[in-house]
Amino acid sequence: MAGGETVILRNLTLPDGSRADIRLAGGRIDDIGSFLEGEDFSGYLVLPAPVEPHAHLDKAYSADLVPNPTGDLLGAVRGWLAHRHTLSEQDIALRAEKALRAYVAHGATVVRTHVDIGTDIGLRALHAIRKLDGLLDGLLDGLLDGPLDGQSPGGEPRAAAGQEPALPRACSLQVVAFGANPLSGVEGAENRALLRDAIAAGADAVGACPSLDPDPRACIEAVLDLASDSVPVDMHVDESLDPEPSTLSMLADAATGFPHQVVASHCVSLGMTPPPRMRAIAEKVAAAGIAVVCLPQTNLYLQGRGHATSPPRGLTAIRVLREAGVTVAAGGDNLQDPFNLVGRADPLETAALLILAGHDTPDNAYAAVSNDARRALGLPEVALRPGAPADLLAIRAKTPREAIATANPERVVIRGGRIVARTTLKTDWPKC
Ligand SMILES: [Zn+2]
Repeated sequence: MAGGETVILRNLTLPDGSRADIRLAGGRIDDIGSFLEGEDFSGYLVLPAPVEPHAHLDKAYSADLVPNPTGDLLGAVRGWLAHRHTLSEQDIALRAEKALRAYVAHGATVVRTHVDIGTDIGLRALHAIRKLDGLLDGLLDGLLDGPLDGQSPGGEPRAAAGQEPALPRACSLQVVAFGANPLSGVEGAENRALLRDAIAAGADAVGACPSLDPDPRACIEAVLDLASDSVPVDMHVDESLDPEPSTLSMLADAATGFPHQVVASHCVSLGMTPPPRMRAIAEKVAAAGIAVVCLPQTNLYLQGRGHATSPPRGLTAIRVLREAGVTVAAGGDNLQDPFNLVGRADPLETAALLILAGHDTPDNAYAAVSNDARRALGLPEVALRPGAPADLLAIRAKTPREAIATANPERVVIRGGRIVARTTLKTDWPKC
């Protein structure tokens, strides 16, 4: 049975610096103590496994195919839309599989990805990404070494909204149907119909970009209306340095009382809003139960290009949101595509940027890419205590700060009590 066997990890370093052995059974941490047998993990730190709460697997690794001459958001959007209609399901699946393997190898046991839905691409990206469920079954069973062939070997049910699958995969993959603009008015009817089709075809959540819609408020209401019967919402919010109009404030008004989880990703302009209004919006976001996902890579890349000196960093108001009681997670967003030419599919890279560009502490930064991200996605906490889900990252490091600083490639990733990825590094020093 998946997750059913007992695994013992010996001589691990815990985040507080102490050493212990951890016994895993039934997909959970069974006991922490001292055991006689098991694999030796001397030199490895154990952490709750990271989560990638905001990816775009369908766009990943397209930077060499799609130019963004201006380097800003509109340049990326224009470049991507000019290219998108040419994408086949197979092309998307191959790049997405490479990205997903990288996220899992780096430790992510949950990945939420947005996938483009539009009249030019239909549901092709959604179908391509949903086929990765088969890859994840194969990884767990140790069956699949070659490229994805589109055949799903598993019968594991797709995760219900806000929950993980009944049986653990190598990674829980959540797919957000990302609607095209316009979604509002008569002109948006076709795009709204496609989002409805995407939910019926297996999307786990619905999203859109209201600030790029001719009528942001109507765009928000359309998405909430489409999702209200069945799925959560995850919006791209205010990806600009202009504090007005605040579609985050509109979303907080509209989402109050919404029956499912709501995530606001980016929220860049909140970081540029004068403090009294910033606090007022943060309190509205908290009251509405909305979680915010900060995306430092993409916003450091896209924002502030018009500033000749001291360009703003483009991060949301992390501290003020937390003080208001909002869950603030962080994700990697774009991965070597026209929205972000670099990126390594590594939550530890995201955590490092929170420390550098957001002045976060190492502990808060790691929480943002692990348990805070789990909370934002409606998933249970992973704690290092008996009974907790056995989703763990063992990494060659002594402390969480050092793990973030070095992003050491030597990692063992555990999902549901089973090792699903192991990366080792060997350096030769030839005599010279
Ligand atoms: Zn995004």
